[in-house]
Amino acid sequence: MAEITLHNVVKEYGDGFLAIKGVDLDIKDGEFMIFVGPSGSGKSTLLRMVVGLEDITSGDMMIDGKKVNDLAPRDRNLSMVFQNYALYPHLSVFENIAFPLRLAKGKHSEAEIREKVQAASRMLELDEHLERKPSNLSGGQRQRVAMGRAIVRDADAFLFDEPLSNLDAKLRGQMRTEISRMQRRLGVTTIYVTHDQTEALTLGDRVAVLKKGELQQVASPRELYEQPVNLFVAGFIGTPPMNFLPAQVDGSMLRLPFVSAPIPSELAAKLEGKDIVIVGIRPEYIKDASLGDVADGSVTFDVDVDVTEWLGNEQYAYIPFEADESVRATLDELDRDLDGEGMRTQMIVNLDARSRIREGDTAELAFDPALMHVFDPETGANFTRDDARAEEIARESEEDRKRALERARDRDNAVREREAAQA
Ligand code: ADP
Repeated sequence: MAEITLHNVVKEYGDGFLAIKGVDLDIKDGEFMIFVGPSGSGKSTLLRMVVGLEDITSGDMMIDGKKVNDLAPRDRNLSMVFQNYALYPHLSVFENIAFPLRLAKGKHSEAEIREKVQAASRMLELDEHLERKPSNLSGGQRQRVAMGRAIVRDADAFLFDEPLSNLDAKLRGQMRTEISRMQRRLGVTTIYVTHDQTEALTLGDRVAVLKKGELQQVASPRELYEQPVNLFVAGFIGTPPMNFLPAQVDGSMLRLPFVSAPIPSELAAKLEGKDIVIVGIRPEYIKDASLGDVADGSVTFDVDVDVTEWLGNEQYAYIPFEADESVRATLDELDRDLDGEGMRTQMIVNLDARSRIREGDTAELAFDPALMHVFDPETGANFTRDDARAEEIARESEEDRKRALERARDRDNAVREREAAQA
């Protein structure tokens, strides 16, 4: 169990490249923290500094209040689970799990080793597989063996570096749930690096979003989704991504490519003196007006639908638009920062599967201006972020996290009591 704290941590590589530009972060005991960002944003560098595989140029790395900047990896008592699991093919599952205990020569008796391995294997449901070789196991089982090896060490924290990126989509989904379940049961502080925002949203208690070595926002998945601090976070989190539309501020109205929307009163003061802003609308907030479930105050507009994709439970519609010259540079740069594919000049709408809108149609769509995000094209700041609401979400997420840990503990205690009663 451990709390991991980073104070103004900086990493300058030998060639002078500044990979981490001063990161402050407080990871709570038992928390599942995600480092996410596009390729090259510094996620692995940051993780490797926590483990001790990369030294810290300046700042402080603290584990449970103790400064560990100069401690060797083996003295930090952290356990890293690698992408390829690093299992020994010639050893049985039992011996793979026991490996770190045998490595600490003479520290553990044979009986102790057996007890620890069995406890881990029971928790990870590997009992039937202890005598098998890793090559005969499924990807999911191998992942559990790697976790078992981390567990027997009684490490203070687990660190994962893109553990699922080699797996196909289906297995990745299964493994995600397994990792999440194990983390809850063990209640061990966990840091998990990924470039995949779906993994970040589904696994993290909180997610630290990085861009070019700088933290953009550290928050629960829901806060990132609903109250992003800037364009970058808004564009990175969510699939399909948030639509960004240029809008001209015209008195009390915002003139968007397809429609004009009234400026919500609490926003008016912030937009004073602005000419062009960027409006962000999530694909699911735009509705097929003919279906009738349109919120009061919504604006409606006609569009020519270019392409539709029907996916059974939902449907996407693509609608091209012309971006104003003055914001095109900002949107292009954002697209590059997000490793995007230059798809920013079409609006994506996530329609109800019942919708009869088809490609080539002229369709009537609607959205509620209260749900739009409005960004400053110069700084990227989100004018519509509601700090009070963000705090509320943070409080709720923290409550959820504590409840999940308690439930996992209760479940484990119940199992233990049952076993004791049977013995
Ligand atoms: P991520 O994990 O987010 O993809 P990394 O932490 O691997 O990013 O890298 C962050 C930045 O640091 C990248 O621009 C990368 O090129 C640079 N970098 C990584 N390792 C080194 C190194 N040994 N020397 C110089 N630059 C490095």
